[in-house]
Amino acid sequence: MLPAMSTSVAAAPVLAQAPMMPAAPAMLFSGMSSHRCAECGGTFPDSDMIAFESAWVCAGCKPIFIQKLKEGIAPLGVLNYAGFWIRTGAYVIDWIILQIVNFFISMATISFIRGGGRVAGMVMLTQFLIGLTLQVTYNVLFVGRFGATPGKMALNLKIVRPNGEPIGYARALGRFFAGFLSGLLLFVGFMMAGWDEEKRALHDRICDTRVIRR
Ligand SMILES: [Zn+2]
Repeated sequence: MLPAMSTSVAAAPVLAQAPMMPAAPAMLFSGMSSHRCAECGGTFPDSDMIAFESAWVCAGCKPIFIQKLKEGIAPLGVLNYAGFWIRTGAYVIDWIILQIVNFFISMATISFIRGGGRVAGMVMLTQFLIGLTLQVTYNVLFVGRFGATPGKMALNLKIVRPNGEPIGYARALGRFFAGFLSGLLLFVGFMMAGWDEEKRALHDRICDTRVIRR
């Protein structure tokens, strides 16, 4: 503190004589090219930062940033969002898997009900409940545990939080039911992924999730 102050006092007469021209262009330059740190969100001149693909990181955040990359947790600005069509592909794969599983479970259950001499309404209700239970279980278990359904895994997609972290079982459950809202109004909620800048569907907005390419 004190040496710095005495230096500036000593330098004062020199500064008074010489114009501050040498310092001015450097300040102007660093002011012109600065970036937001993808980790802490602070703005720094480029000279104090490192660039990583589309993201800039300040010197202070560099160790955390590198650590996160090693752990596979993507910082803000590095997530590679998956678009509408590949996500639709994943849904189709999941739909086919669920249809096949549903077919065998329904066959077994319905023949059991028919054996008891029950009516058609009972069969339909049972079929509906089996289908719903199967969908919920399939989505929550796979997404909660792996961050992706088998369809998304097959296409290398993953559901994450905005900072790249896993979404967990509870959010996976909420996201599944939020998906019903996206299905209303002719699937406009799903199509929103096509024009959102972070490719969020309606259920991603509701649950604060993103779908990325691994
Ligand atoms: Zn930072």
